[in-house]
Amino acid sequence: MDGRASEVVGQGEPTMSLLELQYWPAEVLRIVASPVTEFDAALQTTLEDMAETMYVERGIGLAAPQVGISKRMIVIDTPIADEESSQLEALINPEIIESSGELIWEEGCLSFPGLTVDITRKETIRVRFQDHKGAWHEMDAAGLKAVCIQHELDHLNGINFIDHVSPLKRKLLLRELKKNLTELGVET
Ligand SMILES: [Zn+2]
Repeated sequence: MDGRASEVVGQGEPTMSLLELQYWPAEVLRIVASPVTEFDAALQTTLEDMAETMYVERGIGLAAPQVGISKRMIVIDTPIADEESSQLEALINPEIIESSGELIWEEGCLSFPGLTVDITRKETIRVRFQDHKGAWHEMDAAGLKAVCIQHELDHLNGINFIDHVSPLKRKLLLRELKKNLTELGVET
């Protein structure tokens, strides 16, 4: 819950720190995260560790609360057409300032292993965010990238993808999750 880092040392590779993934129902996943105010070297290191953790877990997006850090920042890398076109992006204090259209996407979440849920999201969004140095930017996103940003931004507000479905469906999904976590050896 406190994002304890575990060191993974490769063969002659630089040391990288993987952060501990938080699974539902960790409290940090259910609270509103605080804005990032310090744009220092420690922030850069945390973002790099978040990216490493996301890649190791084979995710396309990761929000800081998912690694026990209750701060408003996310990393994403949504492949557009193939592996080469992928691009890592870090969005700090992100907010959606415009959106249009709707689409339904089958989403998964690293904090809910094995679950997929069809969720209605905005099709295109414009997001305002800060980079690791604190400069503000605006970016347009559509399709998978827009879905991913909306999913990760929900995490910053303590909202999880199961909150978008009916109470009955949610109950069934959480039962399935409990089984999946037990199979993974995660205590719930
Ligand atoms: Zn998620």
